Parts: sequence; structure tokens; C-alpha cells
Amino acid sequence: MSLRPTWAEISLPRLRRNYALLRAAAPGVELMAVVKANAYGHNAALCAPALVESGARWLGVTCLDEGIAVRQACPDARVLLMSGIWQGEAEAAIEHGLTPVVWETAHLAEIKEAAAQRGIASFAVHVEIDSGMSRQGVRLDRIEAFAAALARTPHIHVEGVMTHFHSPEVLDDPATARQLENFDQALARLAAAGVTPSIVHAGNSATALTPAMTRAIAALGNKHGAAAMVRPGLSLYGYAPRFSGEGAAAENTELQPVLAWKTRVISLRTIEPGETAGYNATFHAEKPTRLALLPVGYADGLNRLLSNRGAVLIRGQRAPIAGRVSMDLTIVDVTDIDGVKLGDEAVILGEQRAERSWARITADELAAIEGTIPYEVLCAIGPRVPRRIAEDENGDA
Ligand SMILES: *Cc1c(COP(=O)(O)O)cnc(C)c1O
Repeated sequence: MSLRPTWAEISLPRLRRNYALLRAAAPGVELMAVVKANAYGHNAALCAPALVESGARWLGVTCLDEGIAVRQACPDARVLLMSGIWQGEAEAAIEHGLTPVVWETAHLAEIKEAAAQRGIASFAVHVEIDSGMSRQGVRLDRIEAFAAALARTPHIHVEGVMTHFHSPEVLDDPATARQLENFDQALARLAAAGVTPSIVHAGNSATALTPAMTRAIAALGNKHGAAAMVRPGLSLYGYAPRFSGEGAAAENTELQPVLAWKTRVISLRTIEPGETAGYNATFHAEKPTRLALLPVGYADGLNRLLSNRGAVLIRGQRAPIAGRVSMDLTIVDVTDIDGVKLGDEAVILGEQRAERSWARITADELAAIEGTIPYEVLCAIGPRVPRRIAEDENGDA
């Protein structure tokens, strides 16, 4: 086992609380807990069981491998393969009791063959409708053709029909209402062709946190005689979507980040005016400068765009990143922090006690520096960083 002092702490109490907050925010719809991409970098084997204990009956993953891993952690949960199946995967999906999303006739052919071979009469799938994102799903002009293909595939049973919104966090974007109308129309035309799902689902964290949308999706389910579901991901892990537009709510500040990413000071030196630090000497000391070395780099997912721009927390204060982030190491400037010593904890993401309060660095902050979204910051934390259950709940102050 590696004793390298770079790790991520996962707070299961926070994960459960975030789930409960979302539940309360979205009455009338079920919530599928999205745990794709290893629970957005948080470790699905830790997070998925906690979400199931909190009441999640459905878990969303992207692909077969993720589905098998989640199945091992959660033997009784329903697991949706949201990016469908690839050639040759239907048999394993059936074996592990995973539920694929389908929208290509090739998906149906794959499942039909595998189900027939295993003597399965009725394998549940969810059909995705492309209501306007043009990413995946049956296009509106292909609904009847797809329903006919389903009718030719007796081994398949359409349990759910779903769609995905492209801009649900832009509250005054009429595109979302149009997508919902398209979804409604698709459901009506599927019903006319004999396809009557028991669950309809749409949307993500932004949808779950927008009461008008959860009401609309609940009403849509009602209209089509189906249960309604929304699929939050990011918000489970404590990050609210960036709402914009008319009616944008204040940020949901009650959600709390589940992951803290930490490391320790492994070396210290003081450099003189005129000396430089790191690759290509992009950091120049103008005065005697105390530098601390951290065993974390871009190979761990600490983005190189944070070079000379990001910071970490040491002793409750910000230590700016000095020079370029290396593959495995990062130098920080601790000149203004008293008493830094070898072994001191450095927080890359998360909270640290400051004098009277808590200092914090969020994935939103790093995303802003990197020109990306918090999703990518969290998913980028690499497999070299072990995820551990947080020992104590210390960031509630
Ligand atoms: C990732 C994903 C979600 C969850 O989205 P968040 O923005 O993380 O809440 C929901 N539905 C589908 C189809 C997804 O791919």
C-alpha cells in the first residue's frame, strides 16, 4: 500500500444530507442518483451504497463496466446504463441485472440475441428521446419506426422513457419548455404505437432544484400514466448548478461538498531574490521566499492551468502555487504563513480551520481558474489519489 500523503476524504454524512435536501426540493418525483464516472470522482463503491441507504432506488452510470462495479456494491438497486450498450455487451448487462438505455435499432438487435440465448422473455430497457440536444436518443421523426422495431423485438419490455435537457440551469431559456413539449409529444406517439412505460424521466441537478420543472415532470408522468423521475448528479456531491436567467434562485448554499482533497508538505526551502522555482523558471523570487513542496501534480488531476494561479490551504491560510504544476509535485509559496513545517496538511479542495472561521477552496473556484466546470475538476482527480471515508465531520462550522 502506498503511504504517499495525497488522498481524498469522502464525507458520507454530507452525501446523505445532500440527497435529503434534493428529496425535499423535489417532491412528486423520484430521484435517480447519478453515480457515473466513479461517482464524479468520489468513488462509486463508497457513494452508491450510501445513496441506496438514503432511499435511492435507481442509480445512473454511463457504461457496462461502471454498472458491474455498482452492481457489486449495491446488489438490489436498479442500475441504468445511460450511454446505452456497445456491441457484445448485452449479455453482461442481462447477467448483472443492468438496465440499458436504448435508441438505436442495433441496441435492440444486441439485446434480442442475448435475451433469446438466455431464455429471457422480457428484458427491461429505457428508451431515450432526443427532444433537442442532438446527442443521443430517438429523433422525433423516427418515433413510429422505433416503436415498430420494438414491436418486432418481443424479448424487450420498455419500462422507462427518458430525455435530457441541454440548458436546464438557464431558467428563462425557452428551449427547455420546447424540449418538454417534444418529450410529451414523443410519449403520446409511443403510447399510440402501444409503448406505455411505467416511468418517465428527464433532467439533472438543475431540474431537481427548479420547482417549476419538477412539477412539470410530475405532471407529465401523471398525464401518461407513469411515475416521474429526475436524475441529479453533481448536486449530490455538494455543488449547485450555476443558475442564470429570469427567476434564478439564490445559490443553494445548503449543499455541502462531499470530497476534500488533501496532501502534506514534504520539503521546505527558502530561496533568495533573483532565484526561480519550477520548470521553465516561471516563478521569480523578489524577496527571500519560503517554498513548500507538495506531492501532488497534474498526474493526480491537479490541472497545470493552476500554475502560478491556484492556491492551497496550509494552517488555514492560502499558499499560492509557485511556478508550474509538475506531473507529480507542486511548489507553493508559504512566505506569509508562520510556522509551516514538514508534514503540515495542505488542502487542495475542501476546508481547513482558520483563526476564527473556516477557509475553503471549492471545485467552483478551481473551475473558474481553469476555464472549465466543477464537474471536470472533480472527475479529473486521478486513480493515484486514494479515496477514504472522512473520519470526522469537521467542516460544518
Ligand atoms: C450526467 C447526467 C445527469 C446528471 O447531471 P448533473 O448535471 O450532474 O446533475 C443526468 N442525466 C443524464 C442523462 C446524464 O448523463
